[in-house]
Amino acid sequence: MTETPASFTPSTRFAVPGRIAVSNRAAALWQTATLTEIRRETPHASTFRFAVPAWAGHLPGQHLMLRLTAEDGYAAQRHYSIASAPDDAGHIELTLDHVEGGEVSGWFHTVAEPGDEVEVRGPLSGFFAWPGDRPALLIGAGSGVVPLMSMVRHHRARGLSVPLRLLVSARGPEELIYAGEFDAETTPVFTRSAPEGVPVGRMAAAHVAPLLADPPPGGWEAYVCGSNAFAEHASRLLVAAGQPVERIRIERFG
Ligand SMILES: Cc1cc2nc3c(=O)[nH]c(=O)nc-3n(C[C@H](O)[C@H](O)[C@H](O)COP(=O)(O)OP(=O)(O)OC[C@H]3O[C@@H](n4cnc5c(N)ncnc54)[C@H](O)[C@@H]3O)c2cc1C
Repeated sequence: MTETPASFTPSTRFAVPGRIAVSNRAAALWQTATLTEIRRETPHASTFRFAVPAWAGHLPGQHLMLRLTAEDGYAAQRHYSIASAPDDAGHIELTLDHVEGGEVSGWFHTVAEPGDEVEVRGPLSGFFAWPGDRPALLIGAGSGVVPLMSMVRHHRARGLSVPLRLLVSARGPEELIYAGEFDAETTPVFTRSAPEGVPVGRMAAAHVAPLLADPPPGGWEAYVCGSNAFAEHASRLLVAAGQPVERIRIERFG
């Protein structure tokens, strides 16, 4: 974990040197990202839209490194999945949970406003990327739905015919990130409260097994994202339902 000097608070206004890197080695370079819009998704999560003119593009599922720098030079870096689809020239969107006492998410949720500049470096990690070339079975919990939403948006934006299904767990309907955007591809699971007539409970074999019935030609590639505990739980359910272990890709938010 990053050490935090006593003088540092989440309300610190970070200053960023105005640097824009234009290079085909973009993933290795820090670029300035200008916050252009903030959209509330749930009581604890918001989407932050940035203009990144030199962004080299990404694949759905990839993430980036974000850096905030305080006036005294103190810097905090965190990984964030990219929520937007690739076809959003010069722009990227991130969706951040407000972690209690969180340095970086706290700054975004309580201080950041359009016009602020931060630094980003990416895209990173090809392992969790889905180029849209194979049937995708997506399973996420909480903000773990973020990289999966990039895949759903890509699927729609390109009008892909390859099958895609999303199983997403949230504490309740009000905590379901992107609730207004989901369509027939998505099955929500509510763990604490649910609309009348909808069962409440942990994600279980009964949710996963039907998704694996009638596998498409070539089978499913499974993408699991969430906390360590959730990733383990969901992977076990997938294996028990017959998904080959080597076709389960996992992204852990730690
Ligand atoms: C590959 C990757 C992608 C990620 N993508 C996203 C994303 O799309 N959206 C998103 O909101 N987060 C994402 N995260 C988590 C993110 O990197 C930060 O860990 C998170 O925003 C907390 O940072 P912070 O500075 O606010 O909190 P910190 O100041 O780092 O932590 C404050 C306290 O909260 C605890 N904590 C840290 N992270 C979490 C957490 N995720 N849940 C609960 N408690 C925590 C810490 O142990 C500490 O006690 C991702 C992580 C990884 C590794």
